[in-house]
Amino acid sequence: MNRRGARPGGAAERLLGAAPGEGHFAIGLCFPNTYRVGMANLGLQVVAGLLAALPGCRCERLFLPADGGGRPRPAVEPRSVESGRPLSRFDLICFSAPFEADYLHIVEMVRAAGLAVRAADRPAWPLLLAGSTGVSLNPEPLAPFFDALFLGEAEAALPEVVARLRALHATTADREVIGRELADLPGLYLPAGYIGETRAGRFAGLTPRPAFPARVARQWLRDLTPYPTHSRYLPADSVFGDMFLLETSRGCPRQCRFCTAGYADNPPRHHPVARLLAEAEAALPFTRRVGLVAPSPGDHPDFLALVEGLVARGATVSPSSIRIDHLTPEVVDVLVRSGNRSLTLAPEGGSEWLRRVVSKGFDEGQILAAADTLANAGIDRVKLYLMVGLPGERDADVEAMAALVAAVRERFLPHWQRAGHAGAITVSLNQLIPKPHTPFQWAPLEPFAQVAAKVATLRGRLARLGNVELDCEGETTVAVEAILARGDRRAADLLEAAAAAGGRWRKVLPAWLAATGIDLHAPLEVGAPLPWDHVEAGVVSPYLAREAHRASLGKASSPCPPGLVGCHKCGVC
Ligand code: SF4
Repeated sequence: MNRRGARPGGAAERLLGAAPGEGHFAIGLCFPNTYRVGMANLGLQVVAGLLAALPGCRCERLFLPADGGGRPRPAVEPRSVESGRPLSRFDLICFSAPFEADYLHIVEMVRAAGLAVRAADRPAWPLLLAGSTGVSLNPEPLAPFFDALFLGEAEAALPEVVARLRALHATTADREVIGRELADLPGLYLPAGYIGETRAGRFAGLTPRPAFPARVARQWLRDLTPYPTHSRYLPADSVFGDMFLLETSRGCPRQCRFCTAGYADNPPRHHPVARLLAEAEAALPFTRRVGLVAPSPGDHPDFLALVEGLVARGATVSPSSIRIDHLTPEVVDVLVRSGNRSLTLAPEGGSEWLRRVVSKGFDEGQILAAADTLANAGIDRVKLYLMVGLPGERDADVEAMAALVAAVRERFLPHWQRAGHAGAITVSLNQLIPKPHTPFQWAPLEPFAQVAAKVATLRGRLARLGNVELDCEGETTVAVEAILARGDRRAADLLEAAAAAGGRWRKVLPAWLAATGIDLHAPLEVGAPLPWDHVEAGVVSPYLAREAHRASLGKASSPCPPGLVGCHKCGVC
C-alpha cells in the first residue's frame, strides 16, 4: 500500500492493493463526471480493481475534464489519470454510469474524443461498453450509443466479458462477427440485436433479432464472502476526501416502494463482519475516516459490533444512511463517539398514510423518539428527507409534513437553548421519480404545477419556524431524470440534442417532448410493454403489481424475513 499516482491537477492519491497490469489490451474506464465526483463512487473503484487485475490488460481511469476551479470542460478530450492517454486511443472504453443525471456527460466525453456518438456510426474498435445501476435498471436511453451494456454486479461476469473482448480484438474488426460471439455471454445486452418499436407516440416493444435472447438476466453474486468491496484509492481531492469506503451489504430487506435497492439489487446480502474489520484495519494507517456503504447499513446483522470495532481501532465512522428505527441510543452513542455531529432522518412520507403507501415500516412515535435520541446525544444539525408527488398524496399530507417538521424541531429546541447556540434542520424535499423494477414503476410523475403548489404551502408553514431550511430540486432536473429513468431509445435523441446545446436542457426539452408525443406525467399502463421488459432483474412483475395495489390501499408490506428463510414472494430468492 505505498504507491502514489497523480490525478488531473496534480494532487496525490494513494493506491491500496496491487498496481494495475501492463498488458497490451488498453481499457479506458470512464466515469461521466469530474475526478472529484467519480472517485467518491465505490462502484467505479471496484471495477477499476477488477479490470486492472485481468491478464493481458491495462486499465486506466478517465473523467470529465475540469478546470482548476473544478468546473467541467465538456469540449476537451478526456485523458487518463495514469498515463495521460487520450480517450480515443483505448481499445475498449467502459463507462460506469450509476446516475441518470450524468448520462449527458457520456455523450459529451465521446464527442470530445472525436468518436461517433452512435454505435452504428463507429468502427468495431474501440468498442464501447457501459454498466452500473442506472444501466442495469433500464439500458434503453443509452442503447444507441453503446455496443454492449452489462447488467448487474460486475464481479459476477465482467471479467469473462472482457476476456472475450480481448480475444476478439486480436482477431477481428467485423462488427457482425463480434456481435455473434458476444451474444451468449451472461448479463451482456447488445442493443444492435434488438429493434425498438413505438406506436402512436408510445413504446410498443423491443424485438430481438435471430440468435439474440428475448431477455437478459441481471448478474449478481450469491455470496459476498469472497468479494471484499472497498476503496482501491484514497484520493485527497474527492467529494469524500480520503475516506476509506467499505461496502457492508447489497440489496435491502425493507423494500420501500420507491427505492430500487429493495427490488433490483436484492436479495439482501452482507459482508462478514470479521473481514470488514480486517479490511478497515489495513487502511487505518493511511486514513482514520471510514465510510460504510450500503442501501441500509443498519440492516447488517452485526452493525453495532462493526461500528464498535471500528471505533475501538481509532476510526471515525460515517454510515451512508441510517434508518430511523435503527437510531437506538447505543447506535447513536457510538456514532457520536466516532465523530458524527450531524445525522439524517428519512421519514420520506409526512403522514402515517403516506408512510404506509411507501411501506416505510415505522410511525411518527418512532420518528420523534429518534429525534429525542439524537438531541440527547448532542447532535444539533439534522437533515430530514421527505418526498412529494407520491401516489395517493392529499393536501392533508402536506400539512402533516409541516407538522412533522415542527414536532421534530420541538424535540431539539430545549437542547439548542441549553447548549447556548441554535442548531439547524434542513428539509430535503424530493419529488417521486418513478423507477423501473419498483412497485411505483407505473406511477405518474406528478405535474409540476401541483408540486409547486405543495412546495409553496410547505415553504409558508416552515417559514414560521426558525432554523429550518427547505431544499428542493428544480423541475427541469426532475423531468430529465424521469425521462432517462423510464425512457426508451428516443431518449438518446434528447441526450444528443442537449449535448449539442451545451447542456442547456430547457432549450431542447420542449421540442423533444413535442416531437415524440410523450406525456411525461401520464401513468404507464400495467401490462403494456415497458422499455425495460427485456431486463430480467429477478423480481417478478406480478409481485410489483401486487405491491402497487397494496400501496393504493395504504397497506405496508413486511420486509424480507431474517436470513431470507423460506421466502420466495418477490421471485429473486
Ligand atoms: S424472495 Fe423474499 S427474502 Fe428474497 S428478496 Fe424477495 S422478499 Fe426478500
